[in-house]
Amino acid sequence: MIVEYGDSGVAFDPSNSSEHPIFVSHAHADHASSFKKLDLVKYATEPTYKLLEVLGWRNLGNWRPISVGETVRVGDIEVKAHNAGHVLGSVQFEASTPEGTILYTGDFSLGNSYTMEAAEVVRCDLMVIETTFGAPMFKFPKRQDVALEMVRWAVMEAIPAGRVPTFRTDSIGNAQEVISAFNLLTSVPVVTSRSATRVSDVYRMYGHDLDYVDADSPEGRELLDDGKCVLVAPKGSKFKRENLDTALASGWAVMMRNRGRAFPLSDHADFRELLSFIRRCRPKRVLTFHGGKMTKGFAEYVRKRLGIDAGPLTSREETIHGPVTRGELRMKVCYEQLLRTVRIPGFEYTSPWLVKEMARRGFTRSETEAALTHLVDRRVLELTSSGVRLTQVA
Ligand SMILES: [Zn+2]
Ligand SMILES: [Zn+2]
Repeated sequence: MIVEYGDSGVAFDPSNSSEHPIFVSHAHADHASSFKKLDLVKYATEPTYKLLEVLGWRNLGNWRPISVGETVRVGDIEVKAHNAGHVLGSVQFEASTPEGTILYTGDFSLGNSYTMEAAEVVRCDLMVIETTFGAPMFKFPKRQDVALEMVRWAVMEAIPAGRVPTFRTDSIGNAQEVISAFNLLTSVPVVTSRSATRVSDVYRMYGHDLDYVDADSPEGRELLDDGKCVLVAPKGSKFKRENLDTALASGWAVMMRNRGRAFPLSDHADFRELLSFIRRCRPKRVLTFHGGKMTKGFAEYVRKRLGIDAGPLTSREETIHGPVTRGELRMKVCYEQLLRTVRIPGFEYTSPWLVKEMARRGFTRSETEAALTHLVDRRVLELTSSGVRLTQVA
């Protein structure tokens, strides 16, 4: 997502290159991919950076740290980081401009977890919200209940049957939740695959008290041979062992009842939490992203249940008040505003200054540029070396 104001701009979790400074919300690969481009300037929290580092991302140059509560100024835009409660180091970004504020949530969670605190409520004018689980069927049980279910299965079923209960789960976030649950509720040792070990080491660096044994260590191998342990392994990792009993730990488990073992362990807000978060942030408009078909469906719920203008985030340009339509009427208003702004005869107005002045009145850079071209074509304005001025009549 790109926020522009006047001639300054910032990009949040872009997947492509960006001409603006980049802000990365957290270390999951679908949000952090701009770290693959060495030359771009990237702001991210220190834990986010450390997580990418231990997961083997190369060439992590041009990183600038930002912490929760801290503000970075980019021209007329101020970007502030707020806790997102999703995984270690995850933040939401609030962009403030003289015209209003925009909240980009990234991925967030409302604290139903062992390792994270709830996402901070941030008052905003425009909210860009993730809707990974933006349908009513996604109603996650209390963390404690999910944990008890996982423990019951591992301790009462899998282990007595001579099997190693194995949790297939995300190495950042859910893996540490599974470790915490077993640490807190049982004395069963937790064995972790390489990536889960590395990520958990970073959690420990930041004060999370997690107890686990790496699967490749002598102790880990012994535990796995013996079978009196739990194994945490990310979705992709392969173990050539016969004695594993696999279960999925993920928010998607809600959709998979009866299809093998699946526990609804989620590091995202569920449907009701998404709505309540919006209600508390009190935006005037909502744009949804990151939810497949639900991106559109959830926006409808926001309109109907909360009475707040909402739609999916698209590649279209938007202002804080609504989409840019390029309608004739809007362009007419834009010309008039531009003419009121360049009212001193003979005075030269530079285009960066005009873009900024027009932004203050709710017009985007491209609208101002289109209006300038139009008025120059009609000879109302004339080009000078550094910008425009009213055409001088002899
Ligand atoms: Zn994520
Ligand atoms: Zn995500």
